[in-house]
Amino acid sequence: ALSDKLSGVFDRLRGRGTLGEADVAEALREVRLALLDADVALPVVRDFIARVRERAVGAEVLESVTPGQQIVKIVNDALVEQLGGAGAVPVNLNAAAPIPILMVGLQGSGKTTTAGKLGLRIQTRERRRVLLASLDTQRPAAQLQLQQLGERAGVTSLPIVAGQTPVEIARRALDTARREVFDVVILDTAGRLSIDAALMDEVRAIRDVAAPAETLLVVDAMTGQDAVNTARAFNEALGVTGIVLTRMDGDARGGAALSMRAVTGAPIKLAGTGEKLEALEDFHPERVAGRILGLGDVVGLVEKASETLDEQEAERIAARIAKGKFDLEDYAAQLRQISKMGSLSSILGMLPGAGKLKAQIDDSKLDTAILKRQAAIIGSMTRAERRAPDIIKASRKKRIAAGSGTSVQDVNRLLKQFDDMSTMMKRMNKLGQKGLMRHGLA
Ligand code: GDP
Ligand code: MG
Repeated sequence: ALSDKLSGVFDRLRGRGTLGEADVAEALREVRLALLDADVALPVVRDFIARVRERAVGAEVLESVTPGQQIVKIVNDALVEQLGGAGAVPVNLNAAAPIPILMVGLQGSGKTTTAGKLGLRIQTRERRRVLLASLDTQRPAAQLQLQQLGERAGVTSLPIVAGQTPVEIARRALDTARREVFDVVILDTAGRLSIDAALMDEVRAIRDVAAPAETLLVVDAMTGQDAVNTARAFNEALGVTGIVLTRMDGDARGGAALSMRAVTGAPIKLAGTGEKLEALEDFHPERVAGRILGLGDVVGLVEKASETLDEQEAERIAARIAKGKFDLEDYAAQLRQISKMGSLSSILGMLPGAGKLKAQIDDSKLDTAILKRQAAIIGSMTRAERRAPDIIKASRKKRIAAGSGTSVQDVNRLLKQFDDMSTMMKRMNKLGQKGLMRHGLA
């Protein structure tokens, strides 16, 4: 791996004051190979290396890390920065409805699939009504493909009318969206195997009619050097506002991300990670930087591991609630979940009839300091107390407060909150049972 090679280069630097030019040059040769290996376009590699060189030469050699680790960190930080910095940029939905989103890209890049995925995502996460429309008149089955995706996703698609041009379909989509009050219209377009003038003229005409709030360039993460030409051509013709990188589930190292971003300046907004409709994720620059450098998707792995753990825990708690058993140990487990995930939603989402309650809980009000205090209070209780909170009277409260470094008032507040929550859950259970009965499931 690159980090090993770099450690080798820099091990002998240990104890010297600053990173020297020759040493940095040697390390950057390895970085350059790693980038080319990850299919980053050549001119982009060149620029990037120049930028890192500037930062690295003369940098103080830190005491606590090896110079190898240090340059990996410098390279990694520069990569993350160039990929758009920490955090994902969301798809822009701040426009007057119906908000047109235009999908463009080469044939086979994943436009149609992504249109379906995005429709599903906007509908479920943002709770906006989405209309899908295929303007692909090139391939006979293309419009049908989107319609079927829409059916699977539960997203409405524009009825297919034979014989219309892409521009005519775009107009009809917008008219329909206005008339039937859709919030978002996703316009899927035809691609070609390579950039050609006719394709560009066509998408430009569509853009002029649709005036999209977002023009998403869909790029296959497996495409290598020529991805740059694609991106440049689309950007010059249309003004790309965001990039979707598909097939990130494959073994592509994701170098295309760096190239795309460098050429268009547009943020990479989403990553396609599979053929399923749910396989669309926010783009995380830190993860892709690690992947490009061959450092492994450590963050991603860790997150995935903790996600499954959280899910199991949430399911366990949900099952206890459903059985009418919910004690302070469950409450403590729930607090741990909340502080880890920052929200109650994942637990509540598993309970029938919890939708309303979910809306009532303002997650932003959850204060981590309070969560910690509550966890400490529960930690100072005996097992018997946690299982049967009713036995906690005045003297026990005093002991618990002293043990957790809190006050009796804090203990009371926690018990009250637990009580409220149990009541709420009992009520919700009843609602849920009714709901299940209505559907003939209980
Ligand atoms: P279009 O020609 O740009 O509309 O591309 P399609 O949406 O029809 O996708 C072409 C193929 O790529 C289909 O078989 C998709 O299932 C597949 N595909 C799209 N996105 C992804 C992805 O993120 N991962 C994987 N593994 N396959 C994908
Ligand atoms: Mg298509």
